[in-house]
Amino acid sequence: MALDERAFFTDKPETRPGRHQCPKCRRTGEYNIRWVRRSKKDRLPSGAGEEDRAKFAKLRDYLLRLDDEVTCKTCGKKFEIPSQHSLVFVDQLAGLPNEEELEREISLASGEPEPAPESKPALPSRFTRKSTGWK
Ligand SMILES: [Zn+2]
Repeated sequence: MALDERAFFTDKPETRPGRHQCPKCRRTGEYNIRWVRRSKKDRLPSGAGEEDRAKFAKLRDYLLRLDDEVTCKTCGKKFEIPSQHSLVFVDQLAGLPNEEELEREISLASGEPEPAPESKPALPSRFTRKSTGWK
């Protein structure tokens, strides 16, 4: 018998901030949403067969949203969080902030020299000097 997918993961609750728009008052607010982080186990659980092994190899860590709705901070009405955002792969999250690094790697690989850091000329002192005598 094939193992349940849960046997491959370690569950850990997690609270993450999320921005959501209330459909009633149209205000966007930041809400603390409860998730569970499913981290793939280091090794196959005992009793795993060939089929489980193949399945396990394809698995990725992901986050599963527990909260389906939030209460609007502005009008107090409960609204549903769009369900297409209820599952997020952890490597998708990790991929976002590294975009800059990736671009640098690409430019290195293509042999292009790294662009020189933009140097801002210092402002003449007459622009930065604090004006005195304004009371
Ligand atoms: Zn609202």
